[in-house]
Amino acid sequence: MTHAELWERHQAVMPDWLALYYEEPIEIVQGSGRRVTDGEGQEYLDFFAGILTNAIGYDIAEISDAVREQLSSGVAHTSTVYLIRRQIELAEKIAELSGIADAKVFFTNSGTEANEAALLFATQKRRSNQVLAMRNSYHGRGFGTVAITGNRGWSASSLSPVNVQYLQGAYRYRSPFRDLPDADYVKACVDDLREVIATTTAGDVACLIVEPIQGVGGFSSPPDGLYAAFKEVLDEYGILLISDEVQTGWGRTGEHFWGIQAHGVVPDAMTFAKGLGNGFAIGGVVATPALMDSLSANSLSTFGGNPISTSAAKATIDYLLDHDLQANAAKRGAQLADGLRGIADEFPELGDVRGKGLMLAAEIVKPGDNAPDAATTAKLQQEAKNRGLLVGKGGLYGNVLRMAPPMTLTEPETTEAIEILRDSFNTLR
Ligand code: PLP
Repeated sequence: MTHAELWERHQAVMPDWLALYYEEPIEIVQGSGRRVTDGEGQEYLDFFAGILTNAIGYDIAEISDAVREQLSSGVAHTSTVYLIRRQIELAEKIAELSGIADAKVFFTNSGTEANEAALLFATQKRRSNQVLAMRNSYHGRGFGTVAITGNRGWSASSLSPVNVQYLQGAYRYRSPFRDLPDADYVKACVDDLREVIATTTAGDVACLIVEPIQGVGGFSSPPDGLYAAFKEVLDEYGILLISDEVQTGWGRTGEHFWGIQAHGVVPDAMTFAKGLGNGFAIGGVVATPALMDSLSANSLSTFGGNPISTSAAKATIDYLLDHDLQANAAKRGAQLADGLRGIADEFPELGDVRGKGLMLAAEIVKPGDNAPDAATTAKLQQEAKNRGLLVGKGGLYGNVLRMAPPMTLTEPETTEAIEILRDSFNTLR
């Protein structure tokens, strides 16, 4: 089958709204280390790790071996009505890493399901369907999670029964408070939180959900400490704090294992997915026992926490920790950020370089007025691809290049990517 036929068949049978990269989307057929190859034999350095899914990289022997060992038993999965040794081991490890006292873990198959579960637990616990979320957020495509997604382009329904109010602060580059010093910025956001609770709710709010660094929203974040300041207000009302770590977990931000730790606060729950299985589908919630045990009816996930995905996930966590990939993310992230800042010095189209560790963004603007420039962003993404580099795209206005390579990234690969990015920017002249 030719690539053109594949693309035509995709369009005939898949929904129109499926978000794909590039005018001519590619098929990835092979991977090794940080590199992937498409169906036409073109090789790329993958600076988006799939979609932050391949946290460690491609063709990792330890992960393949763990999955093969499970498969050799003849049982890929039965169901979660039986005990699953690997699942229990993985839950223990995640609970220990979470920093939440006596934490409990519930496994799902995706980030959406993880956030739907966390919403269910929090709204049951508090007997309220009033939820707070951040503007510019993305939490999934379920009936509840589209409601808490503060990004019209990614929120397919406004008909969800979740009652939601959105808060200021997570997208600093375009915040009305952007020019304030950190402490004043935090104060302005806390004042907004108080006002939203006082004026738009009856005070009986279930939870606030935040992404420590917003993923789809363009790797934007508030000053460190904002969510600790929020927590003080939340505690006055008994409102729970949920950190969506689907993109920020597992050491990717370099300085901490979980993104929320940058704020010096322990949330009531964290949700996770994407990188945990290094390509195998797994998500989940880690939470305080009081929150996790809030359901009074039976529940389960047929496939959540199955032996294959939990084997892959346990091997991924062991690999991450054994090789201290958090430290590597910090080191390579600093190198990449320096490179991006160098490009920004030359090209006024690069309006903002931001992020942490190996979660870095370049916001593309019209020089002069800093208006979002989605067309130039798409061109730059395509130019990078033509030169063998895959980068992500996102942001509220589709004008942010996102870089989140596998955390095993090397120094020469980082240098290579910076050169390709510079060459891509040079095509704007
Ligand atoms: N939460 C965040 C922060 C995400 O970035 C995503 C996906 O991009 C999700 C939740 C939803 O995860 P999934 O696509 O696995 O359902």
